[in-house]
Amino acid sequence: MTAIVPDIAARPAAARPAAASAATGADGRSDLLGLTRPEIAAALVAAGEAEKSARMRANQLWHWIYYRGSRDFTAMTTLSKDLRERLAERFTIGRPDVSKDLKSTDGTRKWLLKFADGEEAECVHIPEDDRGALCVSSQVGCTLTCKFCHTGTMKLVRNLDAGEIVGQVMLARDHLEEWPSPKDGRMLSNIVMMGMGEPLYNFDNVSKALKIVMDNEGIAISKRRITLSTAGVVPMIARCGAELGVNLAISLHAVRDDIRDVIVPINKKYPIKELLQACADYPGLSNARRITFEYVMLKGVNDTPADAKELVRLLNGIPAKVNLIPFNPWPGAPYECSTDETIRKFSDIVFNAGYSSPVRTPRGRDIMAACGQLKSASVKRSKADILREQAAKEAAATAALPA
Ligand code: SAH
Repeated sequence: MTAIVPDIAARPAAARPAAASAATGADGRSDLLGLTRPEIAAALVAAGEAEKSARMRANQLWHWIYYRGSRDFTAMTTLSKDLRERLAERFTIGRPDVSKDLKSTDGTRKWLLKFADGEEAECVHIPEDDRGALCVSSQVGCTLTCKFCHTGTMKLVRNLDAGEIVGQVMLARDHLEEWPSPKDGRMLSNIVMMGMGEPLYNFDNVSKALKIVMDNEGIAISKRRITLSTAGVVPMIARCGAELGVNLAISLHAVRDDIRDVIVPINKKYPIKELLQACADYPGLSNARRITFEYVMLKGVNDTPADAKELVRLLNGIPAKVNLIPFNPWPGAPYECSTDETIRKFSDIVFNAGYSSPVRTPRGRDIMAACGQLKSASVKRSKADILREQAAKEAAATAALPA
């Protein structure tokens, strides 16, 4: 078996077995989800469409995919029958598979999603009375090892590509039956990049996906309704602001470097002072557009009145709001949640200094869908393992072909 491995690796991408690319299905058709308009136009040209009409056709396809949520080329009646047939032969409009679909007693819904290569990540819908947020993952696993976070106990398996990130939104919309893209009354009204992974360590894919999500002729969720949360990848914060202009949330969780170094280890690379400077420089901030500072309440670790006062001092000059998150437990977690009384005192100090400081109501704890409880069974495999699996799949597919 190992003998075929170098052979597969050496072949040009187009000739590789289907499983080599997450965006290409077992039948060799590739997925249009996650492509930009120019990339869709290029795909159309590859499918035989004339260069001069490709842009217009790409816009039509965009409308079907992202405004109507259509996955069936035959239903795309603004395209010629011939083109629809050619598209169906070459392309799909995919969704991640759902491995598990769990509903909390509070209405929160968690999907464990399986992508084309079998890797899994979670995605959570948190409904309110007349709106709802989708908590989207950016990676399978995470590199950050934050001590209080369940995802942090997983290694990074891989980045999600743009199609897999947009796919989470498309799937949620399918389930909520929000097609064609409604103008008002959406139960998927907001997006929080607060699922598994660090979005600023997968910025190119996250950016591509969010631009698709924000596009007005499709899903059309505006940047004001999208929040990207980061543990503090300082060099990427300015780019996030300039390129996407979405709301920023910072997982601060401690006000002293010695504590933050331990619970959010990326702090050793980008300490609090540098992080707050990047926040102060974030474009477009005003009283109406503030940065959210997330602060998980860990008993005896970061929850004293002195911590609260220091937080107020640090935030001075930054348009900010503070979101206090009661620690959500997970099996084997080394922390406990602060008491209600401690959280209330902390919140009062921050509030009396002029910052909004709501205590986040835990949602979906019963299905392990609350902040920091997400984890999938995916494990990091070596390149050699992946190539071996591909070789085995190819051998099985070849064996299945008629003689
Ligand atoms: N990596 C990004 C995106 C993940 S967001 C980031 O760190 O911001 C997930 C949010 O939930 C973060 O604010 C994270 O710090 C918080 N969180 C993690 N584990 C938690 C737990 N056990 N209880 C409460 N909040 C937690």
